[in-house]
Amino acid sequence: MTLFAGAGTPRVTSHFINGEWTDPSGPTFPVLNPLNDERVADVAAGGAAEMRAAIEAAAAACPAWANLNPGARQHLFLAAADIVDRRQEELVELMAVEGGASRAFSSFQIRLSSAMLRQAAGWGYLPAGDVLRSDIPGRMAMVVRKPLGVVAGFTPWNGAFYLAWRTFLLPMAFGNTTVIKPSELAPMSAGLIHAEILAEAGFPAGSFNVVTNAPGDAAAVSEVFFTHPAVRCINFTGSDKTARILGEKAGRALKRMVLELGGFNPVLVLEDADIEESIKAVTFGAFLHQGQVCMNSRKVYVHRSIHDAFVAGLAERVRGLKVGDPTDPEVIIGPLITDHAVEQIHDRVQDALARGATLVTGGTFDGRLYEPTILTDVPADAICTTGSDETFGPLLVIEAFDDADVAFRDAQDVPYGLSASIMTRDRAKGLDLAQRFDSGIVHVNAPTMASEAALPVGGVKDSGWGRSGHYAIEDFTEIRLMTMSSEPGRYPF
Ligand code: ADP
Repeated sequence: MTLFAGAGTPRVTSHFINGEWTDPSGPTFPVLNPLNDERVADVAAGGAAEMRAAIEAAAAACPAWANLNPGARQHLFLAAADIVDRRQEELVELMAVEGGASRAFSSFQIRLSSAMLRQAAGWGYLPAGDVLRSDIPGRMAMVVRKPLGVVAGFTPWNGAFYLAWRTFLLPMAFGNTTVIKPSELAPMSAGLIHAEILAEAGFPAGSFNVVTNAPGDAAAVSEVFFTHPAVRCINFTGSDKTARILGEKAGRALKRMVLELGGFNPVLVLEDADIEESIKAVTFGAFLHQGQVCMNSRKVYVHRSIHDAFVAGLAERVRGLKVGDPTDPEVIIGPLITDHAVEQIHDRVQDALARGATLVTGGTFDGRLYEPTILTDVPADAICTTGSDETFGPLLVIEAFDDADVAFRDAQDVPYGLSASIMTRDRAKGLDLAQRFDSGIVHVNAPTMASEAALPVGGVKDSGWGRSGHYAIEDFTEIRLMTMSSEPGRYPF
């Protein structure tokens, strides 16, 4: 069954449970194109019953998937990567109409996704444990890595296609089966299309399941993740606000959670930085996907001696970014996902201006198309510069500094700690600062937005915990200690 290819608009989708698409005649909710509110799909509005069925299918599939030999698993992952490559034009179109993604952003996600599938294809061959020495004569001790069981995932709407793979592929690569609940805002790019791809690649029934839900039903549908004993871990990508609610539930249920949350992602442009390179890195880092990615840069600290040249060059480059319909391959800035997102960014721009900030460029919008916006001279109490809450849109704050040590401290004085960049020609100094910067990722001379499939992405502080790449083995396996004694024991009684 192909829900997407040639299915027309609006598509009608159902849940994917135990290797089958469920009956599509049940209740649905509309998914709208954020550019123009055209109905892109009628998506199944699932409830706790569907979620329970999906979890039970995943639990039943677990032993066989966990024991599948690494070569067979590798074959499946490589087949899925080939399908992603083959279907890329269709994926670009889907991400544009459902999520407002430009071709630049969807292509970035597609490349990362097929690279991650190819990387993950080999992870089944990673060492499965250790042999340890024991102080007891004749005892041999072994530590063996085991999958957790069923891993439940919340997949987000923003980097929907790639981040969904990230949410379920990492657990699956280490022998877990999965159930995901895609965001209501982009359920096709955040899970349903993956079901099609995995089904075509030949993944066993039940190893991967998707249940979609209408807006407003998220809490009821996902409650089963926390109450069903088969679910051993909840992998959440979303806001820290929701993570706190879910974290409390996971705590009560004593279930493991992996969290990929927001970021503030400062950039430090030091006195000796290459200005042209810095302008390119910041334009990309701040405005890819119109600022709706957790790794987008929100604030740039620039040494006062190069501040004006940097701001002038950046403004010119940013004004050249085409804003509009993301199905136009030249468009870089597509629509924001919701009216709420437009209101949030606009309120924060207005708040900063009312407090005396200078508008360098942008600050206006047409529907959900928000012009990429740069502010300078932003007073410290304006919400967009405090770093206490992400502004999830195309807004960048630039601050001049005189003392690099002060800027270095200020840039870390935020609740988040996901990604950061240091631009400098002095690589030794850059590396020294990177080692001392409290963030999950620090790049020297590259944008804050710089994912690679094999590298561990993840945050510290309010940005969450857990890492991608093969480091995810720590999050999605547990270890079992086994000992074997070949001599009689010596006991005190
Ligand atoms: P975003 O604002 O980026 O959509 P959220 O953190 O609000 O991020 O949502 C991420 C996911 O969490 C979505 O799938 C949403 O349905 C789900 N969600 C939001 N609120 C709750 C809640 N109270 N209980 C369970 N799930 C929720």
